Amino acid sequence: GGLRTFLVGGNWKCNLSKDAITSLCKELAAAPDLETDKVEVVLAPPTPYLDHTRSVLRQDFEVAAQNIWVGGPGAYTGETAAEMIKDVGCTWVILGHSERRNLPQIRESDDFIAQKTKTALSHGLKVMFCIGETLEEREEGRTLDVCVRQLHALAETIGADDWKDVVIAYEPVWAIGTGKIATPDQVEEVHEKIRHYLAGDVNDKVAQETRILYGGSVSPGNCNELAQLPDVDGFLVGGASLKASFLEVIESFK
Ligand code: PEP
Repeated sequence: GGLRTFLVGGNWKCNLSKDAITSLCKELAAAPDLETDKVEVVLAPPTPYLDHTRSVLRQDFEVAAQNIWVGGPGAYTGETAAEMIKDVGCTWVILGHSERRNLPQIRESDDFIAQKTKTALSHGLKVMFCIGETLEEREEGRTLDVCVRQLHALAETIGADDWKDVVIAYEPVWAIGTGKIATPDQVEEVHEKIRHYLAGDVNDKVAQETRILYGGSVSPGNCNELAQLPDVDGFLVGGASLKASFLEVIESFK
């Protein structure tokens, strides 16, 4: 959609090594003509590689953390504060990813994710805020209810003024890592309804200006059709972001 700059995120999850990241970043640099004034690109390495990724990645791509701690630095063993993410040159964080919401060992709540988002924004980090329904929820006809519940927690926590650094990633859980991509009709329907919800619960400006990415088995083979949809403003990509052909997904903005 025209008034919103296309954005493509790559979520490396708990994958790659230092050497593999160096190689991949070299391959991504081999496309110097990419029009990064027209498409924002953000890569999210595992926490131990944030600093290294920032140092070897082309400067016109940004770096995201995959999670942050909800508060400041202190006695929080195993956590990473927003200040530290910023300190190593990262500008984004992915929050509310379905793996962090749904893995039984993690199970982050709507409210915890909303609080983390508030913390990230207050430190000047931009946020890819992930939402989406499970297969069971879709089959019960609850897709929109679930997305609205997840977004309402955020709206309640950050209010109406602080959305310029928020990007929503709609990622149906049944489409993540499964090769089962949502159809263009399914994607456009949910994206359009999310925008409608934002207009009502937040305001029109936020509804018009907030980017809504699609995520779930996006690949070079299926990205072009989805990129044309009026309410799709980019992608969040897992598996296909681990290879240099990720460049083809980035190019789908055209
Ligand atoms: C993701 O984890 O955000 C994702 C969309 O994964 P994949 O592209 O592998 O389905």
